[in-house]
Amino acid sequence: MLKEECGVVGIYSNKDVSSSIFYGLFSLQHRGQESCGITTFDGYFHTEKGMGLVPEFFDLKKLEALNGKIGIGHVRYSTTGDSKIENAQPFVVTHSKGTLAIAHNGNLVNSDDLRKKLEADGQAFVSTTDTEVIAHLIVREFVKTDNITDSIAEVMKRLKGSYSLVILTENELIAVRDPLGIRPLTIGNFDSTYIIASESVVFDVLNVNSYRDVKPGEIITINEDGLKSFRPIKRNRKAYCMFEYVYFSRPDSVLNGISVYNVREEIGRIHGKLDDMKADMEVDFVSPIPDSAIPFALGYSKQTGVPYKESLIRNRYVGRTFILPDQEARELAVRLKLNPMLSEVAGRRIVLFDDSIVRGTTSGRIIRILKEAGAKEVHMRVGCPPIKSLCKLGIDMPTDKELIASEKSIEEIRESIGADSLRYLQIEDLVKAIGLKKDELCLGCLTSKYPVKISKHEQVLLPSFYDTSTYDSST
Ligand code: AMP
Repeated sequence: MLKEECGVVGIYSNKDVSSSIFYGLFSLQHRGQESCGITTFDGYFHTEKGMGLVPEFFDLKKLEALNGKIGIGHVRYSTTGDSKIENAQPFVVTHSKGTLAIAHNGNLVNSDDLRKKLEADGQAFVSTTDTEVIAHLIVREFVKTDNITDSIAEVMKRLKGSYSLVILTENELIAVRDPLGIRPLTIGNFDSTYIIASESVVFDVLNVNSYRDVKPGEIITINEDGLKSFRPIKRNRKAYCMFEYVYFSRPDSVLNGISVYNVREEIGRIHGKLDDMKADMEVDFVSPIPDSAIPFALGYSKQTGVPYKESLIRNRYVGRTFILPDQEARELAVRLKLNPMLSEVAGRRIVLFDDSIVRGTTSGRIIRILKEAGAKEVHMRVGCPPIKSLCKLGIDMPTDKELIASEKSIEEIRESIGADSLRYLQIEDLVKAIGLKKDELCLGCLTSKYPVKISKHEQVLLPSFYDTSTYDSST
């Protein structure tokens, strides 16, 4: 079983959809860089999927081969070990009554159990993904009932974890979001074209003004009769992932009606208010670790009047850093990616923002680079509270042991990253900055309390996929 960080797109239209799906996936590239794929339907199912970035894998020839006015697409991130073409999506299953294609963002916590039951029943698998488990479960119901919505609703009762799905059957596009709404999913339309996407940035790119979130527990079907919505499972609580707001989603996306950019800026302001109260806090400027921490630093600057300056310049052409064999090479890779502005940094007292500290390696390296460039003081401010437990619901993180905040106190972390001061955001302030209630958010990686019950046995089966030797801090 694999844990995934992914993005999904689905389009139903009266004209060919492959190029719009391509641009949609391209705008969701930050959600997954390992593999990508598109499936369309024009009487036949056509699929093109493979390893690499969206613009690297797809060319005009591939897009032209993807005929059809209805289709789905997927971008996927996984670590190198799991980087197999068989795990690329959309996943297509042909059964006695037709074909179904599915693309999934999220992570089931009971996938192993479901898979074993299916295997005991004679089901063979071609991939190691939980997506294939979902696909077979739906198909099994569908061949019994002939009703796709009932089949999905029945399967939803058995799925535990996070799933935002786009499904393509013959002539029908379907969106499904798990009852807690853990991972984002949005739907928009113009004229008779409907678009489903992980993040609203896709609507901006495709010039669609009207969109809304798919509700937690909602199934939406779109076919020649138009759009229908079903809500077979309604829960009192929701569990929108806080990390989507802090790091994972693009700042220009609006999730659950809330602007990601505004949340990040507000977090910066909260840090600013707290520093304003400190009489002895004298600094020259505030800087982000680019690009993901920019809105935090801007919010801080607006609140405090401390000037915003860039102290690190990002090389935009360095993609994901590859695995480098030794420490020296890894240090070089960091400098290649982020170079300090010597003229700005030497002799200065800097407030430095990052969205999160996970293992503590990134901030430690960057503070060292700034100090080597002559920075007098570096005061680290973090957009997220301490991450103490690995995410079991779809964000790629290292094992609990490697999470610096699971082992060390804040003072010990400050010392180990070499900061002159360090402040994380408080959980209550994070909740306030997002503007939702605490029981509408998943804070599992901060509190170790997950919104789905995960049995001891399931915890053992949940692997960690965080690639410990590479990172990419840009969103
Ligand atoms: P570290 O503390 O060295 O593990 O790295 C934290 C940095 O990686 C932060 O700057 C984040 O922007 C970025 N980051 C946080 N979570 C993830 C993730 N799940 N995958 C990739 N990068 C991440």
